Amino acid sequence: MVRCRQRDCGWVAIAPSERAAWKQYEAHVLREHVEAVETDVPDGCVQIRTDDGEWKTMSPEEALEFDDD
Ligand SMILES: [Zn+2]
Repeated sequence: MVRCRQRDCGWVAIAPSERAAWKQYEAHVLREHVEAVETDVPDGCVQIRTDDGEWKTMSPEEALEFDDD
């Protein structure tokens, strides 16, 4: 089961296959956890806020694997 790894987020994918679930997760992360900030973000990259309140720039693939535990 694919679930969101952002703390305090209870989102869980509801999809018929793992591939579909990861696609749902990517869309969820981009919609819910990516915010515009004032730094330049390279094309194709997203920014994820860590629990420390810092921003990390990474590719969407890295964002999916990002686990700040
Ligand atoms: Zn989430």
